[in-house]
Amino acid sequence: MKKCLACTVLAVLLCLGILCACGHAPASQEGGADGSQQQASPTQTDLESTSSSNATDGSSSATAQQQSPDTRAADFAVDPTRKDWNFEAPATKTVYLTFDDGPSENTQRVLDVLDRYGIKATFFVTGMHPDYFPMIAKCHEAGHTIGMHTYTHDYDKVYASVDAYWNDLNQIADVVRSQIGYVPCFIRFPGGSSNTISANYTKGIMTELAQEVQDAGYQYYDWDASCGDGAEHTADELVEASMADTSYGYKSIVFLMHDGVAKESTVEALPRIIEYFKQEGYEFAPIDRSTCVPHHGIGN
Ligand SMILES: [Zn+2]
Repeated sequence: MKKCLACTVLAVLLCLGILCACGHAPASQEGGADGSQQQASPTQTDLESTSSSNATDGSSSATAQQQSPDTRAADFAVDPTRKDWNFEAPATKTVYLTFDDGPSENTQRVLDVLDRYGIKATFFVTGMHPDYFPMIAKCHEAGHTIGMHTYTHDYDKVYASVDAYWNDLNQIADVVRSQIGYVPCFIRFPGGSSNTISANYTKGIMTELAQEVQDAGYQYYDWDASCGDGAEHTADELVEASMADTSYGYKSIVFLMHDGVAKESTVEALPRIIEYFKQEGYEFAPIDRSTCVPHHGIGN
């Protein structure tokens, strides 16, 4: 079983003081408005405007999609000539729920919860469970953003070399293209960019990859906060961790969750986590090119 253990470890590290590219800092460090590299955000996409209209529609968002043209193929497709990444927080408090390690047997349940609340999120998918590849298309059709998290998610394979990483990423890119018709520019490294596990296989690889993926037109999204790994905690623990880890008052939070096999507690905790963010005054949005990009400090 492949677990995102490093994600959990790194979430702790983040709590300990690792800054993200948005200039966010844990409460103990204060501040956080520095380093903004503002560019005009191209779109806030029509996706968000559709989210409130189908809050109780548990079937499909096909109707919502018909109401406005889906421009995602043109806007989200990887393009080495586009560098319009936004590093400034949004006007309103926004949380970007992100689900790693799917699609899996749990993905439909995650979709059901999101649909019930009329929330659009982001799925960083893998190739670990080919039987569920059609869920990638289903998530996309429902208005969620698809990002890529590598095909195998095996650290020893993914980080064996720079070429090995690209081979793996291209493999999941082929899968995603076959499901949604284009290769998205959004990616997340297994373990995040600040993982130190990769050094066991190739020292310095994260520094190299972080630059190479951006040169190729991708953008990697680490996270600002996390609820931990659903395979290792109860739903109650995940909810508690969410509240603790999101208490910094960020205006933009990219929030890490998991959607893999044996992550039932994530599904169980999800409604309470959503309620928590709503209570704190957050809106929900899927990642797009205007989303504030959190980058951890690269230690390898
Ligand atoms: Zn993962």
